[in-house]
Amino acid sequence: MITSVAVVGSTGSIGTQTLEAVADAPDQYRVVSLAAGSDVAGLMAQVEALRPSLVAIGDQSKFADLKDAVAALTPDLDIEVAAGPDGLAECSRRADVTVNAVVGFAGLPVTLACLEEGKRLALANKESLIAAGPIVQIARRTEGAELVPVDSEHAAVHQCLRANNNPAQVSRLQITASGGPFRGRSARSLQSVTVADALAHPTWSMGPKITIDSSTLMNKGLEVIEANELFGEPAGDAGCGITLDDIDVVVHPQSIVHSMVTFTDGSTIAQLSMPTMKLPIAYALAYPDRFPVSYGAIDWATLGSLDFDVPDRSAFPCLDLAFEAGRIGGTAPAWLSAANEVAVEAFLKERIRWADIADINAAVLLSHDGGTGESLDGVLEGDHVARVLAGREVEHRSDGRT
Ligand code: NAD
Ligand code: MG
Repeated sequence: MITSVAVVGSTGSIGTQTLEAVADAPDQYRVVSLAAGSDVAGLMAQVEALRPSLVAIGDQSKFADLKDAVAALTPDLDIEVAAGPDGLAECSRRADVTVNAVVGFAGLPVTLACLEEGKRLALANKESLIAAGPIVQIARRTEGAELVPVDSEHAAVHQCLRANNNPAQVSRLQITASGGPFRGRSARSLQSVTVADALAHPTWSMGPKITIDSSTLMNKGLEVIEANELFGEPAGDAGCGITLDDIDVVVHPQSIVHSMVTFTDGSTIAQLSMPTMKLPIAYALAYPDRFPVSYGAIDWATLGSLDFDVPDRSAFPCLDLAFEAGRIGGTAPAWLSAANEVAVEAFLKERIRWADIADINAAVLLSHDGGTGESLDGVLEGDHVARVLAGREVEHRSDGRT
């Protein structure tokens, strides 16, 4: 049987690696829908090669361009064209498995549509789960719905948990972090880093937003909240009953151990592979089976040593901001994640300094209004308010830079 796959965010780093993985196992997977944010040309190159039945563009103003391009390509073929959040959501409803590879809060309609349709969600778009945790948990309970993480640390935990048949016997999770390009640097020396410095990740090649998040350790902070959402549900339900206090962040510069689970008897199970996102993508496509093609296999003759350390929480305050937002709960993670999106975008445009990202995130989180995040409207409103507040913080710091 061929599994149909929706790739939403198909032109990005995770999206293109998903298409490569699917191409490696053509007897088992077929892409039926594709979507991107605004890159019509990039999307059309994929449409031409893959001929999906539906293609969507997030940016509504590009709908006519996409429609014309599809019509020019295939006057005789039936490829539907859609746009906006509903178009992205529709892509997901058409497939057995959706890889949500959108960056940022814009991925939320895809996460919700896929789970509410009772389908498999291969989730790379961590921001949707972080911002809308309580709502996603409800959608996750839809019959047939299944959330398999693509984020490498969470895919590792997912695999480690399968080593034990009683989730109540999980005692701690260790989420590993490469430490990013600024590992070992003091807060003082980080005052003058540039966008190019922050984009130079030592072990992973990723899209710009997550690469900056890795440099501030906000990515690791967001991943702690993500782990708590994924695995913090009651044992025997979707999770293993852990809380934020049961999650450790372990700096591991080689990015070979992707995370670990420690059980009540003190035994720790780890998942190891060379750093490539194709493996967790393929894992989420194939689960509970294994993908037929090998990615990231370790050459033990050349591997060398594996090192572990604790994170520097004062040089990278975003990590503790995430723990704080997770403990506040409700829309606090949505506020932090939205503020961070605004701050990272401003940093990438060189409007603010790298150290301003953490300051802006802290200022916005401090203003959190106690929203509970139990309704979609509440989450959307929280995201909006946090963006406005973060935008003002950017203005204060940007000193006329545009
Ligand atoms: P990217 O910037 O390379 O690609 C993002 C994709 O999302 C593009 O296809 C873009 O067109 C699309 N997009 C952007 N805005 C959109 C919108 N408003 N509507 C619809 N589509 C939109 O990003 P990436 O590095 O591939 O990351 C994607 C997600 O995966 C992020 O949530 C990231 O945190 C997560 N992730 C990425 C990696 C990695 O190695 N790249 C690893 C783990 C997790
Ligand atoms: Mg990760």
